[in-house]
Amino acid sequence: MAKVIAIFNQKGGVGKTTTTMNLTTALSMMGKKVLTVDIDPQGNTSSGFGIDKSELEKSVYDALIEGVDLREIILTTSYKNLHILPSNLELAGSEIELASMRQRELRLRSCLSEIDEYYDYIFVDCPPSLGLLTINALAASDTVLIPIQCEFYALEGVGQLMNTVALVKKGLNPKLEIEGVLMTMYDGRTNLSTQVVGEVRDYFKDKVYRTMIPRNVRLAEAPSYGQTIFEYAPNSKGSQAYTEFSREFMERQA
Ligand code: ATP
Ligand code: MG
Repeated sequence: MAKVIAIFNQKGGVGKTTTTMNLTTALSMMGKKVLTVDIDPQGNTSSGFGIDKSELEKSVYDALIEGVDLREIILTTSYKNLHILPSNLELAGSEIELASMRQRELRLRSCLSEIDEYYDYIFVDCPPSLGLLTINALAASDTVLIPIQCEFYALEGVGQLMNTVALVKKGLNPKLEIEGVLMTMYDGRTNLSTQVVGEVRDYFKDKVYRTMIPRNVRLAEAPSYGQTIFEYAPNSKGSQAYTEFSREFMERQA
């Protein structure tokens, strides 16, 4: 059965999608069978993999709300071992629709249980909110991977984030644990980045990965070409960092 990992931080723009795309791709290139679940109405992971969101016949919305079998929705990617459950703006209304449904927090978990035998890992790219979509992601996951941007207010909101994880663990999903914390958009030339990393290490201790993802313009450019960093700029600093990170991630799996 697959290990399910939510990539979560309710703060916007911290690198959730960039990390989801490039970690899942790197793991698939190592031979792991991986499913990427885009549960963000923005659909950035879907478009990042070159999927035309407006042309989607079915999306994660149909699974969550209509109960459509995931096997009718999951798409293949240009990577042999990597599949994606795509999303688009249709999902934006689902928070309201979910609110009145039975087992509204557990819809994703029940969808994934139909297919998790086919994968080694399932990663869920969360939206930047603490709404029902995020709760569904956390309730369906074994662990939470938290990207934190190296910026002045990095730890702002982390208390709320940890509180949400604790609430889901208590009420919905007792097995939920922290997978790790990834520092993103690191700039080694600034004192600020060094200081932020220090503060995050004080808070999360050895949960913080050794590997840090540098600020690298190639990482920001790749999605607009519908490519991962490994296709778009395989020799870039960003590509090297995500390769190294995926190795460190796997080392911790034993
Ligand atoms: P949201 O909360 O909106 O879903 P997110 O947490 O998924 O955002 P991303 O979309 O991954 O964050 O990143 C935010 C922006 O920063 C994007 O434009 C992305 O291309 C860019 N970006 C992400 N990581 C890096 C990096 N290491 N270096 C430079 N730019 C980056
Ligand atoms: Mg995102």
